[in-house]
Order: sequence, then C-alpha cells, then structure tokens
Amino acid sequence: MIATETTVRTLKFYVNGKWEAAAGSQLHPVMNPATGEVIARVPYATAEQVDRVARAAHEGFLKWRETPVVDRVQVLYRYKALLDRHADEVARILSTENGKTLEDAKGSVRRAIQMVEVACGMPTLMMGDSLENVSRGIDSQTIRQPLGVCAGITPFNFPAMVPMWMFPFAIACGNSFILKPSEKVPLTPTRTAELLDEAGIPAGVFNLIHGDKVAVDALLEHPLVRAISFVGSSPVAKYVYENAAKHGKRVQALGGAKNHLVVMPDANLEKTVEAIMGSAFGAAGERCLAGSVLVPVGGVAQPLLDLLLAKAKSMHIGDGTQPGVDMGPLVTDAHRKKVVGYIEKGVAEGATPLCDGRDAAKEGGGFFVGPTIFDNVKPQMTIAKEEIFGPVLSVIRVKSLDEAIELVNSSKFGNTTSIFTADGKSAREFASRIECGMVGVNIGVAAPMAFFPFSGWKNSFFGDLHAHGKDAIAFYTEQKVVMTRWF
Ligand code: NAD
Repeated sequence: MIATETTVRTLKFYVNGKWEAAAGSQLHPVMNPATGEVIARVPYATAEQVDRVARAAHEGFLKWRETPVVDRVQVLYRYKALLDRHADEVARILSTENGKTLEDAKGSVRRAIQMVEVACGMPTLMMGDSLENVSRGIDSQTIRQPLGVCAGITPFNFPAMVPMWMFPFAIACGNSFILKPSEKVPLTPTRTAELLDEAGIPAGVFNLIHGDKVAVDALLEHPLVRAISFVGSSPVAKYVYENAAKHGKRVQALGGAKNHLVVMPDANLEKTVEAIMGSAFGAAGERCLAGSVLVPVGGVAQPLLDLLLAKAKSMHIGDGTQPGVDMGPLVTDAHRKKVVGYIEKGVAEGATPLCDGRDAAKEGGGFFVGPTIFDNVKPQMTIAKEEIFGPVLSVIRVKSLDEAIELVNSSKFGNTTSIFTADGKSAREFASRIECGMVGVNIGVAAPMAFFPFSGWKNSFFGDLHAHGKDAIAFYTEQKVVMTRWF
C-alpha cells in the first residue's frame, strides 16, 4: 500500500554540510512494518556518489583535525542538548520505520545519547602517556592523532544507537565520518543528522549517504577511507572485515548472535521470567543481545516454562507506536517470512511448539509474528544453532551447569549469554569459563554502557578493537611516540 503522494518524502544525502537530492540514484520504498504502508523513498548511492562524499569528507577532515579537541566537543555538547530535546520525536520516527515499541525506541535513543555524553569527555580520553628521563636527559610521550575519513555501515535494528556507537567518538577524535545506515530504516539517521547539522557540525565532518552493497563496496575500496566500522549479520561482517582489510583499512565488524540464557534451579523464578521475556521477546527478538536459547538446568524446567508460557500468551501484539502494545512487527515482510520459515523448520525437525507465533497476523497488513516457544529442542536442530532474529525461543533442557557451559561454548557465535542463579559460585564459574564477550548475571540483556566496550567474540565479531568504551578511542586514532632531548 502506498500512502498519499504528499506524505511520501524522498530522502536526501547529507554531503559537505548540505542536504542534496541524489540525482540519478534508484529510489526504493521505506515501509511502516505495522501497516505495510510506504512512508518514504530512499535513494541508493552509486560508486561515483561515494567517491564525491569521500573527497568532501577528506576536505572536512583536513580542517577539523586542526580544531582543538575542546572546541570539537562543543559541537557534541550542543548535539546532546538537541537530542535530549527531540528524543521523543526521534523515538517515534524510529518506532514507525522499525516496528519496535515506542518505549523500547525511547530506551535506545537514551542509549544513543549516552554515547555522545561519553564522547564529550574526549579531551581526557584522548590523552597519551609521558615519562621523564627514559634515558639521561630524554623524555618520551605518546600522542593520539585522528586517522582521517572513517565510515560506518549499520543495521536496521538500532538506527539511532548503533551509528552513535561510531560517529560521536570518531568525530571527537578529530576524524571526519561517512554514515551508510541500513536502507530499511533511513528516516531515523536522517533526523539525527539534521540535529547534528543544527548543532553546527562543520561542512564535510559528518556525511550521510544511503544505499546497499554498491555503496558499501565503494566505501570498502575507496583510498581516502581509512577505517570501517560495521555492525550487521555475520556473513556480511566477515565480508566487510576481509575486504576492508584487503584495501588496507582498519576495521571493526560486529556480527550476528545466538544467545543462551541459563537458569539454575536456585534462581528467583519470578524475576528470571521477567528478564527472559524482555530478552527473548523485547524488540520482537530483533536484537543481537536477544536471548534465543533457554537452558534450564535440572528440575527448574517445568515451573519455569509454565510461568513463561502464561506470560508469553498474554502479550499484546500490535503497532509499536500505540500505547499498551508489548511487541511490534518484524521489520520487513521478507524478514517475517524468514522467521516463519525457521518456525516451520523447528516443527519439521521435531521440536514441540508450546506457543506458535505464526497465528499473529493482523487485519490490515503488517509483518507480525507472535512469541514462539519451542520445547524439546536438541542442540543439532537448526533453530538451536542459527540466528533467527525474531521472537522465537528454543528450550534445551540440561542436567548440570557443566552441560550448560559446554552447550553455550559449542556455539559458533559468542556475543552474549546470561546465567540466572542465587549461587555466587555458579555465577563466578559461568562468567569465567564461558566463551562469550558479554556475560549477564541475573540480567537478561547484558548490554554494555557507552563507557565499556561492546565485546562480542567468535563469529559475532571480526577485528580487534570493539565498539565504544576505551576501544573506540584506540580504534579512531593512530598512536605516535615522541622522544625529546634538548641541548
Ligand atoms: P545486514 O548484515 O543485512 O545489513 C547490515 C548493513 O550491511 C546494512 O547497512 C546493509 O545495507 C549492508 N549490507 C547488507 N548486505 C550486504 C552485502 N551483501 N554487502 C555489503 N553490505 C551489505 O544486517 P541487518 O539485517 O540490517 O541487521 C541484523 C543483523 O545485525 C543481525 O545479524 C544482528 O545480530 C546484527 N547486529 C549485530 C550487533 C552487534 O553488536 N554484534 C548489533 C546489532 C545488530
């Protein structure tokens, strides 16, 4: 369905401090996933357009790197104030194009703003080390300098927060930045770019283009782009990692996940169920930190599942922008079909559906799948191994903590995992032996705050330095060691 022509806007690129129509680009529809309506049209950048923006970003960088860091962060202070003022508006746009509930969208915008807050501390964060008299009369110091043009390629599920894992840090360090967000959700990055423009970001320092693989490949290959930050699915993360590295770029590529929630018999059931609900079904499971495999240990399985099932069945599914809705739609119809395909596979491979989200279709369209819980899942089943990225929870019952740890560690992914227990020894052993980069203890979504790194392992991350936290400063700067002697 297409909304009236007057309400369907065609998006622009933000290049060299100006909004410009992407002449000659192909236009693609942006949908409201709750209704299936077309709400905007987004142009996809060609390689020539990427070349032009890279040159503009390079020119922007040459001036920006000379701007003292205390002046650079003034733009970010103003940006933070504008984001605070427009947070609800940004959240509403986000909820409309992505589908997640308004409350969830607001939380993610809050997290985005925290990235800006931390990047405002760059005068301290960027400091190097120094040591007097490393040899007689010789002093030594390290200084951190920006790289140049950095680019960010981001996924559909956090269109405000994930780009801000990148550009506030990159810019505060003195780099210029090109953002290529997900083509499925370009309205949120457009609005947050408008606010950065209003905050007074100098021309060329921040640039926004839209597009698909063509734009990504052009960024990976462009000689003026020095670093690539990527967040998305694992196959694309690996591709980006390999190809950016082949072209001599620094790269951090965050990938997909399959996260396990381990519940010990001594866990607080009520609070644990609440945390599992948020983890598995929050944002309709479209989170890289979503709990996807529930691992009850011993006798806790049945009482846990009874409680969980009752909660899942009482969830209100609908348009995420409306009050009282617990879970919105999936982002596109293609993604809905993919998730339904996984549910069909779970049934075909012999798992027991306790509740089946395929019944959640709504009148008037929309890409809905309801909460789905599979019992009697075996580790070799597809739904136990692959990332589904929807509201589907697979239950694998185990007998001991050792068995649970072995199961989690057998996954090819290593993004996050959680344990629910009242026993400190079990929690400590789990956190120590588990092969995942982010661990929750009685927490369903262990998302690191802006000042800690987002630390996926294994196939959930390709690279060395992670997103945000101190890693971001190391990633977006080059280190120089200066030794000084005066005669
Ligand atoms: P995606 O991999 O399809 O797309 C991510 C970005 O890559 C988009 O900007 C897209 O335009 C681009 N892209 C897609 N296919 C490409 C190709 N063949 N070549 C070059 N570029 C390509 O991911 P998505 O569906 O937008 O997002 C969901 C995925 O992101 C999930 O796998 C989720 O786990 C992951 N994710 C990971 C994290 C993390 O921190 N590890 C955070 C959020 C999302």
